[in-house]
Amino acid sequence: MSDIIQLLPDHVANQIAAGEVVQRPASVVKELLENAIDAQATHIKLIIKEAGKTLIQVIDNGSGMSVTDARLSFERHATSKIKAAEDLFQLNTKGFRGEALASIAAIAHVELKTKQDDDEVGTEINIEGSEVISQEVCVTPKGTSISVKNLFYNIPARRNFLKSNAVELRHIIDEFHRVTMAHHAIKFDMYHNGSEVFNLPVTNCRQRIVNIFGGKTNEKLVPVQEETDLVTISGFIGKPEYAKRTRGEQFFFVNNRFIKSAYLNHAVNAAFEGLLKDKTHPSYFVYLTVDPISIDINIHPTKTEIKFEDEHALYAMLRASIKHSLGQFNVAPVLDFDRDASMDTPYEYKSKTAQTPTIEVDRNFNPFKEEKVSGSGSSSFSGKSHTSFKKESAADWENLYIGLESEMTTDKSVENNFSSVEFESTEVTGSLFETDEKKVGHHTTYQLRKKYIVTTIKSGMVIVNQHRAHQRILYEELLRNITMASAVSQQLLFPLTLSFSKKEIELLTTVKEQLENTGFVFGELSSGEVEITGIPSVTSEKEVAQLLEQLICDLESEVPDSGFSQTDLLARSISKSIAVRAGVELVSEQQQYMVNSLFACTEPTITPDNKQTFITLTVDEIDKKF
Ligand code: ADP
Ligand code: MG
Repeated sequence: MSDIIQLLPDHVANQIAAGEVVQRPASVVKELLENAIDAQATHIKLIIKEAGKTLIQVIDNGSGMSVTDARLSFERHATSKIKAAEDLFQLNTKGFRGEALASIAAIAHVELKTKQDDDEVGTEINIEGSEVISQEVCVTPKGTSISVKNLFYNIPARRNFLKSNAVELRHIIDEFHRVTMAHHAIKFDMYHNGSEVFNLPVTNCRQRIVNIFGGKTNEKLVPVQEETDLVTISGFIGKPEYAKRTRGEQFFFVNNRFIKSAYLNHAVNAAFEGLLKDKTHPSYFVYLTVDPISIDINIHPTKTEIKFEDEHALYAMLRASIKHSLGQFNVAPVLDFDRDASMDTPYEYKSKTAQTPTIEVDRNFNPFKEEKVSGSGSSSFSGKSHTSFKKESAADWENLYIGLESEMTTDKSVENNFSSVEFESTEVTGSLFETDEKKVGHHTTYQLRKKYIVTTIKSGMVIVNQHRAHQRILYEELLRNITMASAVSQQLLFPLTLSFSKKEIELLTTVKEQLENTGFVFGELSSGEVEITGIPSVTSEKEVAQLLEQLICDLESEVPDSGFSQTDLLARSISKSIAVRAGVELVSEQQQYMVNSLFACTEPTITPDNKQTFITLTVDEIDKKF
């Protein structure tokens, strides 16, 4: 057999390397911004068109490159940042692999313009798919401008794999945040499709965070500061009362490089233990400075994970310094008056929190609040589904059980499907086993532990989970409203102003239209604040902030890109937020509404998240228990 192994041509090797380095437009943004920082720029401009799909341009006023360096910078393993393997342990730059420009040039049209301070003229190079198209002298200011056009133009599979512009832009903004937060002494601007998205002046660390996340952030921040031989910790944590349902605002930087670390995240959470409401996450912006020799950044090509030499010690110090800040700034005791003064009693505290779920319950919540007023029937609590169910769809009850309860299919008498059984109710004890003719059609329901609604069917009984059932009911109602734009809005007497970060507003904007279809009416939707003048009739004013926050959290974690999945996510998220919780007492009318509306749903058996909404217990099964 002849030899079959050969070396890959450079452009193929570069394309393969690009697969690792460039996953999406945001990866290019990160590499170019980091190169500009490494070049000592003090002003960096990021220009994006169509979420980076057509253009990503970074202009810096840094060192610039000589003619030879400009050409060499596109070669693989060409770097000015390390010379020998030892240098890897003394890294003070973002880049060091010499791979980024070569990779990017392999999969896009790249134009580089660069000039060093003391050169008269600069160099312009055009490269397409690793092939140098032109290299000329040009007039350009000191620094470097790199434009990356038509990313993945020669890898259609990758290009088609890109998500919608909204999603890709979100990734770019994430990357921009991470880089800019780590370099507050550099001025950054960002433009998208010609309009300015961020303008971040040179400032201190705190103000940079505030500039990024919006004006209201300032009051939420508590400084953290600790200096030991091993590490210098600085930065800010968010006060516990501002903890969010989203994990969005959690940042670690090591030597001014954004990193992810589940282990250190755990340390922060441990410091917050007992201070947070259920399912909320603290915000943190923590900057660690360590001796470069004690870390290994080399373990991940996109470099968001690093290895620490003494992770355990770091964990302990981080946890202690955050606890210290929480205590020092008097943040902790405000939350719980009964709390032991000592901050080191997490276990006792844990058991206390277990008794407090009632705090979230809105006892005035009345699913029927709209019924008398509206009559027109657009709220999920009033409306067609409810009334029409009573009138025409009682037989649906039966249909729903076809397949579940085979014996019911033979019995067409609706009346006989329900027997009236009262449990634990004093005034009707006598009629426990009687079938009251007058009550036929008005099925008796009973609420168990403020959590389940129990009612009878011919073959036995149904136990409905009130929270899940309500989710299903609201979900279908919201889906209808969003797709048909048929929701009724409650006008607010005083507009509600909520503050969000630019990124969060960006997210809300992507689903603004659908939100309006649910009944939201927005005023101004920019500059860190959202003005709301109308809300869906199914929700109440005080639920709105939490509803939108949860929605942002869900949008962040799911990143839907098609119209339908956006609508679905929206309906799922909102229905989950506002569905009546366990622990809420429902009067008999509400219980019946819940049961009837559930079974009038297209898919009553499961929640939008595929959880069972009710169970049945047949008389046979009950018989067996005796
Ligand atoms: P790395 O950053 O890992 O060294 P890159 O492929 O990103 O590799 O860049 C290659 C080289 O090109 C860098 O080492 C640097 O010398 C030069 N370079 C890249 N971008 C710039 C810039 N904006 N200004 C000055 N020099 C740059
Ligand atoms: Mg680089």
